[in-house]
Amino acid sequence: MTKLVTDVICPFCGTLCDDIIVKVSDDGKQILEVENACAIGAEKFLHAQSPDRITRPRMKQENGEWKEVTYEEAAKYTAKILCDAKKPLMYGWSSTSCEAQSTGHMIAEKVGGIVDNTATVCHGPSLIAVHDVGIPSCTLGEVKNRADRIVFWGCNPAHAHPRHMSRYSIFPRGFFTVKGQKSRKIIVVDPRPTDTASLADMHVQVEQGRDYELLDALRVAFKGEELPDMIAGVPKEKVYELAELLKEGRFVTIFFGMGVTHSLGKNHNIDIAIAVTADLNKYTKASIIPMRGHYNVTGSGQVLGWQFGFPFCVDLSRGFARYNPGETSSNDLLQRGEVDASFVIGSDPGSHFPFKSVKKIYDLPSVCIDPHMTPTAAVSKCHVPVALVGIEVAGSCYRMDNVPIESRKVVDAPEGMLTDAEFLEMVLEEVNKIKGAAA
Ligand code: SF4
Repeated sequence: MTKLVTDVICPFCGTLCDDIIVKVSDDGKQILEVENACAIGAEKFLHAQSPDRITRPRMKQENGEWKEVTYEEAAKYTAKILCDAKKPLMYGWSSTSCEAQSTGHMIAEKVGGIVDNTATVCHGPSLIAVHDVGIPSCTLGEVKNRADRIVFWGCNPAHAHPRHMSRYSIFPRGFFTVKGQKSRKIIVVDPRPTDTASLADMHVQVEQGRDYELLDALRVAFKGEELPDMIAGVPKEKVYELAELLKEGRFVTIFFGMGVTHSLGKNHNIDIAIAVTADLNKYTKASIIPMRGHYNVTGSGQVLGWQFGFPFCVDLSRGFARYNPGETSSNDLLQRGEVDASFVIGSDPGSHFPFKSVKKIYDLPSVCIDPHMTPTAAVSKCHVPVALVGIEVAGSCYRMDNVPIESRKVVDAPEGMLTDAEFLEMVLEEVNKIKGAAA
């Protein structure tokens, strides 16, 4: 006997697909099949069943071998390194629930830590640009139902957000886009001929790192003013053609990714992309949305925003919230040797940070809270495996367009495993004991 769990949320990328169907065994312990998810999403569900899964916390011994410990011991160790540190770094948060984030931030406030999320190495420049100039945005539902001009600038959803195109941006039939792909013009701006570009009506091959110039030229072209013959490797005729194509649309949405946030210009690229969107609103309706990666990186920014007023790089070491990306961002702090303990949850800086930062994590007292063995877990002194949010425990998440969605529990976690929210509650209790004793 099997049962179907429907309307499941996929906890992998910022698209947060909410139509996944999971076939589970009658006892609710085994995932048998995953329907509707893309290959990456399906693998996330199926990998939860791995027979090699680590189900208990472990501490590294002096000889480098792991030794199994209890969750209580792991919580005591975590609380101690955070309380002993003058400025502990508490990084990650993007692959866990808003509930766990909120508890973690209470710990950070008590220990005077730095709370930073993965935006620090992806859409941080977008968040800075939003502080500068605001953002005219919309929901993915509006994109599906209304948008007839879709621009993918410096992003490649065919690989990074595989169902984005079928659920929202290229193929679906919406209320005002009844013919699906035929109702839309797709434009890809990318130096490379990507798989997403192969689906586009127009591929603009901007020269690497010269997006700002091209965006600026578009603003000129909207007004019909004179341009030089070539702009950022693109002939002016093509820029005028693109400007007209966008102005003729009923509803334009620009999706952008790390090709613009992390190439030359960074947040200034996003400033001007937002200015292009604002300009377009003089002719038609236009909106812009960042292609957020981890499934709840948007939620991390939201929860930090409610609690401290800033979306990432929050420094609580002085007893109040400070925010200064470049100074209070994880890599800068690690590389300048300004943090003295490392706490990582729901992300893998061991795979994504520069070697110098990872080496620093290796040298520091450190804990990594992650369902799986990752490069970050491998360099940490303590690894705490937890139940998978969206598969083994429910929790709130925010989609890339800032829509909150409640993820569902599909199967039970392996016996005796805690969720990250439960483990953080234990750490908070231990921190309270230490801080209480110190007072
Ligand atoms: S597109 Fe993203 S959210 Fe949707 S199924 Fe694939 S990995 Fe999951």
